Amino acid sequence: MEDCIFCKIVKGEIPSAKVYEDDEILVFKDIEPLTKIHLLLIPKEHFKTVAELDGKRAALLGRALQKIGALAPAWGLEKGYRLVINQGEEAGQSVPHLHIHILGGEPLRWEK
Ligand code: AMP
Repeated sequence: MEDCIFCKIVKGEIPSAKVYEDDEILVFKDIEPLTKIHLLLIPKEHFKTVAELDGKRAALLGRALQKIGALAPAWGLEKGYRLVINQGEEAGQSVPHLHIHILGGEPLRWEK
């Protein structure tokens, strides 16, 4: 997607603070962190929501979750973290490229 900011990050056209990269995913620091540690994991392939998952993309997301589990301690998240995927307008998805927020580094509240 030409106008997608995360595709531009994947292509290196916009700088990012990368903490992990392989051939199918990228993890970088959120530019406006909501918590002490706030990372974003994106698939390198552009798609917007889980409604667009096929078998291949679902398997990729499974590997991405596995990677988070393996690397979270190295990212300073050994005490726990929260994963959030905002989907669509009412959830406040502002970038139309699927991304997993990885939030932590401090106690997180969970209340309405
Ligand atoms: P969402 O609102 O769920 O779509 O999340 C989009 C996230 O992308 C927000 O938390 C933004 O702060 C973050 N963001 C937007 N542009 C950049 C960028 N250039 N580098 C890092 N994070 C970004």
